Amino acid sequence: MDRSNALRMADRAMGLSRMPRRGRSQVAPSAEAVPTIAAHSAREPVEAHPTTPVVVPRERAPAPPAAVATTLRVVLPNHAEAATVQDPAARAQALQALRERHDRACPHCTTATAHTHTVFGEGNAMARIMFIGEAPGETEDQTGRPFVGPAGDKLNGMITAMGLRREDVYIANVLKSRPPDNRTPLQHEVDACGPFLIEQILLIRPEVLITLGGPATKLILGTEAGISRVRGIWAEWAPPAGHGAPIPVMPTYHPAYLLRNYTAKTRGEVWSDLQAVMARLNLPARA
Ligand code: URA
Repeated sequence: MDRSNALRMADRAMGLSRMPRRGRSQVAPSAEAVPTIAAHSAREPVEAHPTTPVVVPRERAPAPPAAVATTLRVVLPNHAEAATVQDPAARAQALQALRERHDRACPHCTTATAHTHTVFGEGNAMARIMFIGEAPGETEDQTGRPFVGPAGDKLNGMITAMGLRREDVYIANVLKSRPPDNRTPLQHEVDACGPFLIEQILLIRPEVLITLGGPATKLILGTEAGISRVRGIWAEWAPPAGHGAPIPVMPTYHPAYLLRNYTAKTRGEVWSDLQAVMARLNLPARA
């Protein structure tokens, strides 16, 4: 297939046929400093949350810096078996062991009552890219699988647009059980369930984390700033001491937000964020 056909396919997959394109040279560069991110939820409009700006590239920082509230309180449990396993089968087994331990012991999911199934996460245990969403919705709760409802369809389109298949990546959420009425995860829920996600990341050790929306970005970067301000800017997640090198993080909008705000602007922004990841991982350019 020639390049222009490939481009059209990528655009169609993401519904991007009328959006602005950003070439490789315009891919968002590494940020000078790790930005901070507010708790914008896919379930709420972006502007509903006041943002707390920190260091972002000059052209994207409209307000003077305010106090930085770091809200990350997640710590790894003492018994975490987080050493990265290199063998794919062994890694899948380690993930299964983590899943069982989560379902037995997660202080949040074992006491929460609004869900039917926990949703551990799924995908390629050797994935180079790990997507992190917010919490299971209705369809996810019914099936026990992440991103299988309408937001999942959109995420699938994003993955396809990158030239990948869903089974090439790993997909998980901040919370592994559905919040009542799909509300945004509460801090104490994230504190309780989040450490299992951290262990999951440490087992998979992807080359890039893509955080989808405010809660995931807030958990991973431990920061307070609006997702609309920090999306598209490379940041880093520093694992707990002794657990290896930092992992690059690309924050972008949650697919559910994209669905609700399906404009050329938001689609173009998400596509440019995905292109930045593709460029970093040397995936073939598709637009
Ligand atoms: N929204 C999320 O954040 N996660 C899912 O798994 C589904 C919808």
